[in-house]
Amino acid sequence: MAKIQAIRGMNDILPDQTPLWQFLENTVRQVLRSYGYQEIRMPIVEQTELFKRSIGEVTDIVEKEMYTFDDRNGDSLTLRPEGTAGCVRAGEEHGLLFNQTQRLWYTGPMFRHERPQKGRYRQFHQIGVECFGMSGPDIDAELLIMTARLWSALGLQSHTRLEINSIGTAQARRNYREALVNYLSDFKAELDSDSLRRLESNPLRILDSKNPDTQRILERAPVLDAFLDEESIAHFARLKALLDAAGVVYAVNPRLVRGLDYYGKTVFEWITDSLGAQGTVCAGGRYDGLVEQLGGKPTPAVGFAMGIERVVLLLETLGLVPDYVTNDADVYVMAMGDGALAAAMALSEAIRADLSGKIVVMHCGGGSFKSQMKKADRSGASLAIIVGENELASGTASVKPLRSDEPQKAVNQSELPRVLSEFFGSR
Ligand code: ATP
Ligand code: MG
Repeated sequence: MAKIQAIRGMNDILPDQTPLWQFLENTVRQVLRSYGYQEIRMPIVEQTELFKRSIGEVTDIVEKEMYTFDDRNGDSLTLRPEGTAGCVRAGEEHGLLFNQTQRLWYTGPMFRHERPQKGRYRQFHQIGVECFGMSGPDIDAELLIMTARLWSALGLQSHTRLEINSIGTAQARRNYREALVNYLSDFKAELDSDSLRRLESNPLRILDSKNPDTQRILERAPVLDAFLDEESIAHFARLKALLDAAGVVYAVNPRLVRGLDYYGKTVFEWITDSLGAQGTVCAGGRYDGLVEQLGGKPTPAVGFAMGIERVVLLLETLGLVPDYVTNDADVYVMAMGDGALAAAMALSEAIRADLSGKIVVMHCGGGSFKSQMKKADRSGASLAIIVGENELASGTASVKPLRSDEPQKAVNQSELPRVLSEFFGSR
């Protein structure tokens, strides 16, 4: 019978990849925690209406990328394409937003029906951060300072660069939109079908176009910053000053807009030049209008989402995965003969209790000394511990270094904790 395969663009993350994922997730978790962020976990499925109302009807996501289906009651549900909408929905529903400040984060799979390619999948994973109740540039700056710290913690500080922009208030964007449409209307014959469509529906998105001809036309287009309101200008100036003071390097990209409707004022992207077209590893901005748009009280908010697959790919591509990020065992315990099995198991337990954090693999499944040694070698352990009839009789265990020429030696079982901590302490 033909085997059933995974869905295109939805990847299995295999055991040899998970240590890197865990390293990344743990590093992020630690950094976020150190800034006072608290984790929130939302469902993967929400009502379709939530995404339509928040992301915007005329965005790529809502127009053509969502996994939407009717459940058995006939309700229209959608696999979340991003986390912000669900986070706001949850925060509102549980009274976390009104008159409070919150620093929240989440991680998990997101779903978008896009053309799969390197760094672009149909199920992918994000780490998202959302802050509520803070309207000033201080929290925008803190978010970016925190992200910069994260890149340092991952060894990526010299492989990511920050672009920022201010897209002003909704009114400023309306004014700009008019000017942009006016300008682009003279180039209708030269625009591709996507841009022509957007000219009617969501002209600011044209600035995002990857088409070089369109980008050439845009070179002379009016720029948004000429239309910014006083408050957005002041907010942006203060943000830049705070980033300067903190030593966070950035470039202002006046053409940077975000694909989702809910952003305003600050927007930013962290970009790498090492992954080709899928170079944005983290993106976000301020979305002061969204909570109200979803039925809550006006609540300022700012956040970002990081694409985990892209950061993983970046670490791999650059060869920056730390040596200790492996599934390698530390100690491999072998019993020679049925009589030694219970003692070897007890010894494994004792070693685990003594060496917390080390991987102690007990050989199961029997076999000859030779085949057990082969497994020990393949486990990546640096020490094998062997308990046989002789060791059993004398209350010892044989300790055999696997990655050096040091000789095997018999150690009293009571001495084993000290010998092992010395061994591992000296590496
Ligand atoms: P892009 O311009 O690359 O399509 P986007 O603007 O759609 O990105 P966001 O919605 O801002 O992306 O999501 C934040 C981050 O999530 C992106 O910067 C990227 O790192 C990651 N991401 C988005 N879509 C995908 C995908 N299909 N596969 C893998 N990662 C993704
Ligand atoms: Mg996209």
